[in-house]
Amino acid sequence: MKQSFLTKEQIAEVVKTYPTPFHIYDEKGIRENARKMAKAFSWNKGFKEYFAVKATPNPFLMQILKEEGCGFDCSSLTELMMSEAVGSVGEEIMFSSNATPAEEFVKARELGAVINLDDFTHIAYLEKVAGLPKKICCRYNPGGVYAVSNSIMDNPGDAKYGMTKAQLEEAFSVLKAKGVEEFGIHSFLCSNTVTNDYYPMLARTLFELAAELKEKTGAHITFINLSGGVGVPYYPDQEPNDIIAIGEGVRKAYEEVLVPAGMDDVAIYTELGRFMLAPYGQLVATAVHEKHIYKEYIGLDACAVNLMRPAMYGAYHHITVPGKEDLPCDHKYDVTGSLCENNDKFAIDRMLPKIDIGDYVVIHDTGAHGFSMGYNYNGKLRSAELLLKEDGSVQMIRRAETPADYFATFDFTDYFQTK
Ligand SMILES: *Cc1c(COP(=O)(O)O)cnc(C)c1O
Repeated sequence: MKQSFLTKEQIAEVVKTYPTPFHIYDEKGIRENARKMAKAFSWNKGFKEYFAVKATPNPFLMQILKEEGCGFDCSSLTELMMSEAVGSVGEEIMFSSNATPAEEFVKARELGAVINLDDFTHIAYLEKVAGLPKKICCRYNPGGVYAVSNSIMDNPGDAKYGMTKAQLEEAFSVLKAKGVEEFGIHSFLCSNTVTNDYYPMLARTLFELAAELKEKTGAHITFINLSGGVGVPYYPDQEPNDIIAIGEGVRKAYEEVLVPAGMDDVAIYTELGRFMLAPYGQLVATAVHEKHIYKEYIGLDACAVNLMRPAMYGAYHHITVPGKEDLPCDHKYDVTGSLCENNDKFAIDRMLPKIDIGDYVVIHDTGAHGFSMGYNYNGKLRSAELLLKEDGSVQMIRRAETPADYFATFDFTDYFQTK
């Protein structure tokens, strides 16, 4: 059973200072999970998790992950700046971007980040705008569909990312001729996998490719970046990934493929976002309306601008009502926000306990790709982000937006400057 990491009483205490809606993160859960992740790959000397900043771009959370040994996977100027702000520069940064603007390559080079090239043409582009580094990564797209245990997981052939195998081989040869000394291979084939088989299978694919590229181009491959994609169980009846088993699966592939190829010094990198934070964040809202027409609706003070995944992907996020954990789920509701947009529904036909106006409603697993995908449609404002610290205290790690924030980018009349 999925339970909120805050009780009704704790939420009632928090809202005295910080009104709903807000996202809140659980420091203890974050740290324990990050340590397990590090343990799962401790067999690999150079292992590093580069947290995907886009999942939850908050420097306070980045600081916690940094303390747990993580670097940062960035793909934009401001993400690079956030990494710099928490003191992670140089090879603590993986810059895995695509369709990259020149200024972002310039910033990444200035910080000494490891650059992951998305396309063959980016070699000439990077060389021209910022120069080539000594260590570089190239992103691979095998095309076709990617299946794990006979079920199709995703469709790389339709994805905009990465290079074909032939391009990758040529890229390594060209880069080597231009003086690059160390190479990495990166690939992100499936998102939110809830199976222990994805990473080991991807690893085997990339290890075999690495051995082949070493053979053909003579490139010195020093790391393999398994990128993101290890998922979390959004549904309460899903079996979670076992990261220790996943680490073991990757080790097995390493020993069977890389070691015999004389490549036993290759470092494993990961760029997980969702797995690192999703379960350790929740969106806490209050039921402010109920409506009975052809269906039963509960209206919250949060809306899709606070959490876009249900509206955008039809994604499931579990919902609980603190204080009513033991009541039967015998009411069927659509749980909605206030946008003038009919897809602004956190849940459709969801069986929940009877909800009363004023009840707190917790939307689970919003710690990654939650707040960060927020937007300002309908002039709605972004919520605060809070941190439940290990000592039980609550710290505000981002304040809620005010109308002045929304009006800050134009200068029309004095009206907007005084609100
Ligand atoms: C989004 C992204 C990630 C993280 O993906 P998760 O599904 O959150 O693990 C990692 N690397 C790259 C390049 C990404 O774009």
